[in-house]
Amino acid sequence: MYIYADNAATTKTSPAAAAAMVKCMEETYGNPSSLHSVGQKAAEVLQKAREEIAALLGADFNEIYFTSGGSEADNQAIRSAAIFGARKGKKHIISTKIEHHAVLHTLNKLEKEGYEVTLLDVGTDGIVKAQDVADAIREDTALVTIMYANNEIGTLQPIDEIAKICHEKKVLFHTDAVQAVGHVPINVHEQHIDMLSLSAHKFHGPRGIGVLYARKGAPLFNLIEGGAQERGRRAGTENLPAIVGMAVALKETIDGMEESEPKVEKLRDRLIEGLSEIPHSKLNGDPKKRLPGNVNFCFEGIEGESLLLLLDQKGIAASSGSACTSGSLDPSHVLLALGIPHEVAHGSLRLSLSENNTEEEVEYMIKAIPEVVNYLRDISPVWEDLEKGEKQHVI
Ligand SMILES: *Cc1c(COP(=O)(O)O)cnc(C)c1O
Repeated sequence: MYIYADNAATTKTSPAAAAAMVKCMEETYGNPSSLHSVGQKAAEVLQKAREEIAALLGADFNEIYFTSGGSEADNQAIRSAAIFGARKGKKHIISTKIEHHAVLHTLNKLEKEGYEVTLLDVGTDGIVKAQDVADAIREDTALVTIMYANNEIGTLQPIDEIAKICHEKKVLFHTDAVQAVGHVPINVHEQHIDMLSLSAHKFHGPRGIGVLYARKGAPLFNLIEGGAQERGRRAGTENLPAIVGMAVALKETIDGMEESEPKVEKLRDRLIEGLSEIPHSKLNGDPKKRLPGNVNFCFEGIEGESLLLLLDQKGIAASSGSACTSGSLDPSHVLLALGIPHEVAHGSLRLSLSENNTEEEVEYMIKAIPEVVNYLRDISPVWEDLEKGEKQHVI
C-alpha cells in the first residue's frame, strides 16, 4: 500500500483531464492566433474552455486570464494593483502573515520599491479577523490580498465578510484561492471578489497552468510583454492542451464537490481524532473552519524532516509545512504566526487528503504515524531532556 496524502502540494491528474489533453494535442494543434482554419479551430476550443471555466466561477469569459499557475496569477494581481494604485497616490497594501510565498515575496519586493505593506496577524486558530481588515484600511490603501484557504494548516478565512468590507470601502480585493477552488463553493460576482488566483494542479488538472480572474474594470498590468494574447494582458502562445485539461478537471471537481467533500471531511476528522491520541501533540489551525482534507499536527521532540523520510518508507507521502519551504531549515512562517515556538514548529506534519483516499488508508496512518513518532522520540536528545524534566513541555 502506498498512500498519497500530499494533495496540497499537488494532486494526481484526473484521467479525464489527461485524455482531453492528449486529444487536444493530437487534434487541435493550431495556434489560436492564426487566421487559417486549423488556427481558428484552436481558437474555438480556447474560447469554449474559457467560457466553461468562467461559468464554474460565476465570472464572465472576458474576466478570465490564463497564466502559468498560481504563482504568476498572484504576482500579476498584486503588481497590477500596486502599479495602478501608485498612479493615484495609493501605495498601501494589506495582507496577512500566513500567505503563500508567491504573495509574501511579491509584497517584500514592493516594500523595497517604496510601498507600505501591513501584514495582519491571525489568531491562534489561524484565522484573520474581518474587523482587523476593516481597521487597517486607509485612504491610500490600493489593495487587500488575503488567501481563501491556507496551504499549510487549511484554515478558511472569512472571505465573504472581507470582500464586502473592501467593496463598501471601494478598495480592490484579491484572494489567492489556489487551495480553496474545488473544495468550497465560490462565485466571484456574488461574493464581490475583484481578483482571484487558481492553479489547475491543485484540483487534479495539469501543472503549469492557472487562472487570474480579474473583474471587468479591475486594472491589469502585463508582466510578460509580447503578443496580444489574453487581450494584451499576458503574452505568449496559449498552452491549449493544459487549458483544456484544466477546464475538464475544474468541471469534474466542482460537479463532484457536494458528494466528495463530506466524505473527505469524515476521513479528516477520523485522522485528527486518531493522531490526537499521541501525547504532546497538537492540531494546528481551527478544527472545523479548515479545508475538508487538511490535517496539520505538531509533535514535540522530533524533526519534521526525519518524520517524513520514515513515513515515506512506511508508504505514506506527507509533507511538513509547505513543499516550497522544505529544504530550508527555517520553521514554517505560518506556524510561527500562530504563536507556536520554533522548536515545536520544527516537528510539524501536514497530511492533505483527497477523494482518492480511503478509510482503510486513514486507519493505516493512525497506526503507523504514532509508531514512527515514538521511534524518533526514543532517539531524540530533545525528547530525553523533556522526559527528564530538564526542559519543559510546551504542548
Ligand atoms: C500551490 C499554491 C500556489 C502556487 O501555485 P503554482 O501553480 O504551483 O504556482 C499559490 N498559492 C497557494 C495557496 C498554493 O497552495
